[in-house]
Amino acid sequence: MSEQRIWDVAIIGGGVIGLTCAFELARRGRKVTLIERAQPGRQASRVAAGLLGTATLPVGEDDAIFPLKLDSLRRYPQFVAKVESIGRRSSGYRTDGTLWVARSADEDAQLEALHEERLRRGRRSQRVEAGEIFNIEPELPGSLLSGLLVDEDVQIDPRRLLAALERGIRYVRVGLQSDRAAVGGWYDEAAGAWNVRLADEDSGEDDSVQARDVLITAGPWCDEIVASAHGETGPLASTGVGPVKGQLLRLRGPRIIDRVIRTTNVSLAQRRDGELIVASTKEPEAGWDLTATDEAREALLDRAAELIPRIRELELEEHSVGLRPAVADHAPVIGPAGQPGLWIATGHFQHGILLAPATAHWLAEAMDSGEAPQMLEPYGLERLGQPRVNTEAAS
Ligand SMILES: Cc1cc2nc3c(=O)[nH]c(=O)nc-3n(C[C@H](O)[C@H](O)[C@H](O)COP(=O)(O)OP(=O)(O)OC[C@H]3O[C@@H](n4cnc5c(N)ncnc54)[C@H](O)[C@@H]3O)c2cc1C
Repeated sequence: MSEQRIWDVAIIGGGVIGLTCAFELARRGRKVTLIERAQPGRQASRVAAGLLGTATLPVGEDDAIFPLKLDSLRRYPQFVAKVESIGRRSSGYRTDGTLWVARSADEDAQLEALHEERLRRGRRSQRVEAGEIFNIEPELPGSLLSGLLVDEDVQIDPRRLLAALERGIRYVRVGLQSDRAAVGGWYDEAAGAWNVRLADEDSGEDDSVQARDVLITAGPWCDEIVASAHGETGPLASTGVGPVKGQLLRLRGPRIIDRVIRTTNVSLAQRRDGELIVASTKEPEAGWDLTATDEAREALLDRAAELIPRIRELELEEHSVGLRPAVADHAPVIGPAGQPGLWIATGHFQHGILLAPATAHWLAEAMDSGEAPQMLEPYGLERLGQPRVNTEAAS
């Protein structure tokens, strides 16, 4: 049956970005429907490690998105409090901080550069001498050269967060439409609204919903939707967004670490329930492939065990694979999408969990005022020109 009502906002894609935007917009009083072609939170958002960090290596790599990362990190405590109280679930938010460690002179120099960069930006971090590392994280080996403590870089359990968000959006009356894929759309001038065409994944029947605003949050699949839609003033502009494959391990066992531990090639984070994350590979050449490979599993285990040999004793619970949504310059695309009432939020690459609260807040502000706020200026679609639509072999 076709929906007769006109929604204020139809959001396409129920990953962490779509769910967080739905939560925020509905809390502000908008009537929101969230369209998800499978079940919410099953793609990259479910695979992510949940590191919420402003410090990254190599130094300077994240310059363009640092202000947004910092803004989002600052929003996290309040965001978590709202989602947990409305969604009635813990999100596994842990504020024990992050310890970067150096295994070689080169890594030691990189940590020094990272420390100096943070001080330049007015952020706190603390250099740690080799002899002190044991006092901070006793399982780390005595062979490490130095460390860098970044207290403000914390972690969350994305799966718990997604579960809390899914409950939260129901409570704020978001109309969730699962197992329904958006397969195109057009602007209906008479109604002053968008028609989003939907395909029911089970029955194969077509349907549509109407909404004054449409927000596309379909991760690396955004351009598939864009390619089959038509706006008030012509075809929609593509982002060129595509997938960057990542593999990650979930182990389980007794408590080994409290802080997030990071080096140049592996990151470890342990949840309070004993789950230990070993993150992650970055395989841009793999396209849409979702195979969990023996090679990646062994490489991740080797890197983790090189740091903490006891990790080999833990049980391997899951080998996860996900597709980070990335555009050419690896910064997100957030804001108006070149047609009246059309918005987009994608390309969050390796920081979508971190950037979700800021993305939702600033998009909601933009929808309220009708224009992109200053904070979103660096993340506009215009900066990308007119990239080729990236729909090859999408799955
Ligand atoms: C290995 C790995 C580790 C990571 N670690 C971190 C980390 O530590 N910290 C961090 O901040 N980020 C991390 N990330 C990145 C983070 O996971 C992503 O940036 C984030 O999940 C992107 O969210 P999204 O909602 O844009 O996309 P997705 O989670 O991909 O969600 C998009 C949704 O859109 C739906 N969809 C697609 N097409 C349609 C359609 N036509 N109609 C309806 N629905 C549709 C999909 O089914 C999907 O549910 C990691 C990612 C990976 C892979």
